[in-house]
Amino acid sequence: MMNVDRYTRLKAIKEFGYDVDWEELKKYHIGIIGVGGLGTVSAEMAVRCGVGKITLFDFDTVEIVNLNRSMFKLEHINQPKVKIASEILKQINPDVDIAYYNNDIMDPNFESVFEKEILQIDIILNGLDNIPAREYLNVKCVHLGTPYIDAGASRSGLSGYVHPVIPHKTACAKCLRSFSIDLPDERGEPCVASLPSTMAILASIQIQEMLKFLLSFGEMIDYLMYHMVSGKFFNYTTKLDKNCPVCGIESSKNKKTTKAKVSQKELDDFINNMKEE
Ligand SMILES: [Zn+2]
Repeated sequence: MMNVDRYTRLKAIKEFGYDVDWEELKKYHIGIIGVGGLGTVSAEMAVRCGVGKITLFDFDTVEIVNLNRSMFKLEHINQPKVKIASEILKQINPDVDIAYYNNDIMDPNFESVFEKEILQIDIILNGLDNIPAREYLNVKCVHLGTPYIDAGASRSGLSGYVHPVIPHKTACAKCLRSFSIDLPDERGEPCVASLPSTMAILASIQIQEMLKFLLSFGEMIDYLMYHMVSGKFFNYTTKLDKNCPVCGIESSKNKKTTKAKVSQKELDDFINNMKEE
């Protein structure tokens, strides 16, 4: 009888011509910053895919207005999101090591712990809902050399974006300031309206990009926007801004190289493709 396990149908993509060793995912440690409409979905999918470790960061408690999204239930109201999410994720897949911090990532007293964690994490998925925290995370990831996949929904809940950032290789969030496409001003602000379906689409794309990055297959997106009303996806090409105040300053300490198996050639091709457009 064929040897089957919970990853059998994930490993089966190899049979369609992709040289993917699904077991590799067990080597990786991912970070989820913000356990809200995006973070709950991406965390659950990452756990089901079988990453080695997930560390969650959030300091909010579950509120009744959060119940339009996935994961949390009425019985979880007033409890820390990270604690509840870690319990649920552990039940979904006990193979995965789950850690969490019930802290504000911008708290100065948490900074050294946060930096140490970023250095140990292979890739971060951003699920934050406000611009100051997004900018803070962008600076930390770029300076410490940890790739992250940014994403956010608009205040209307009807559109959003996904933007993988590979420090010093691709445009960071700050580089986009000098970027000619028409970015919506409202991106990534605290949500007023939110649709679980928009969040799930954006979180799903974050996971797709994470899988391609960690398992070294396919082509990563550059900057993608999705509009729910028109049903359209828009792909944009960005490039690293030489004058970017974030990318231009390399941290002198703790700079690391990623363990991820994306070859230099693949990254160079990715950058060159961006330059050509
Ligand atoms: Zn930059």
